[in-house]
Amino acid sequence: MLIVQKYGGTSVMNCDRIQNVANKVAKCAQKGNSLVVVVSAMSGVTDEILGYGHHFTPLPNEREMDMALSSGERITAALLSIALNNMGLKAKSLSGRKAGIKTDSVHTKARIKYIDTTYMRKLLSEGYIVVAAGFQGVDENGEVTTLGRGGSDLSAVAIAGALGADTCEIYSDVDGVYTTDPRIESKAKKIEKISYDEMLELASMGAKVLLNRSVELAKKWNVKLYAKSSFSEDVGTLITGEDNIMEKPIVSGIALNKNQARVSLYGVSDTPGIASHLFNTLANANINVDMIVQTVGRDGKTNLDFTVPKDELEKAKLCLATYKDATLEFDTEVAIVSIVGVGMKSHSGVAAKAFKALADENINIMMISTSEIKVSVLVDIKYAELSVRILHSIYELDK
Ligand code: ASP
Ligand code: MG
Repeated sequence: MLIVQKYGGTSVMNCDRIQNVANKVAKCAQKGNSLVVVVSAMSGVTDEILGYGHHFTPLPNEREMDMALSSGERITAALLSIALNNMGLKAKSLSGRKAGIKTDSVHTKARIKYIDTTYMRKLLSEGYIVVAAGFQGVDENGEVTTLGRGGSDLSAVAIAGALGADTCEIYSDVDGVYTTDPRIESKAKKIEKISYDEMLELASMGAKVLLNRSVELAKKWNVKLYAKSSFSEDVGTLITGEDNIMEKPIVSGIALNKNQARVSLYGVSDTPGIASHLFNTLANANINVDMIVQTVGRDGKTNLDFTVPKDELEKAKLCLATYKDATLEFDTEVAIVSIVGVGMKSHSGVAAKAFKALADENINIMMISTSEIKVSVLVDIKYAELSVRILHSIYELDK
């Protein structure tokens, strides 16, 4: 089999941990597998480099930052390769450039355009374990780029897709995807298999096992993705196409997002184009709107409620300054709790059951939004964890 493995920052935090990774890689290679190993920078290193850049100016040149940032992953790649060689294995470390990762030119958040796999394939055919530095590539002028925070996941999935690897295993310090955050609900269970779409919903709502963009890419290229721990032998969670999951639970997991703030506009004039103008203004300012509720207008006035990331609230306030006739209200003491499951598509009453359970505990729902596979409610942040536990229990995710 051809396997791509990716090891995150905590898995390669120091030389002992790199040796631990080398042992795992060796074990997999000795079973006769071909391997590409993608590594992150040792944990803390990317932040340290960012700190150095910001020592001189709040806005360091992004091309220069990419030169500095990309070195973190290269150090780990080289060290892992040295450890593997020392164990008598053929291994070679590659920078993003040597691995053929071609990106656009948007420094510090570049997108991968394609991967020229020629050199990696040559090394694999010669029996090498390829150790690739994650998080980086080069643009068409050969300038070094990085892919944005957490980008090594993306490198791994993209390489797996381009090579047509059998599986892509993402190793971190957690052993898979859970039905909810185990720190909130100790009865949370590890999920054996989950669909790309459910994973995307859970990840965007705060489950931090995998970078969202990497799940999107895995879906697009149909990469069989595993989330595993580098500190155990556990099989982890398989993230795959919905069709590969025979028994679809109605609800797969409960997600919590405490990073959203509510914005309310009361008494905006109820005319065509008002929502269009408002949300285009926010979009142009690069503000990501999540939940939106507009009520039926009365007396020529209507109310609009929506949520934005907390750290974009100030920017949103500036955009809204033009709505002089409306009353504005903001609330940062809110949380979005979501029920996610592909089985919802064919079952009714999932939302109703959730609303009743929350009502029984006297938890007020401020906003609701639904999609085919998700029901989200906005609640007072005081009740966020409680809401998660209630929903986790009524859908029997602890069983
Ligand atoms: N080292 C980079 C970061 O910390 C990329 C990664 O770890 O995936 O964001
Ligand atoms: Mg990372």
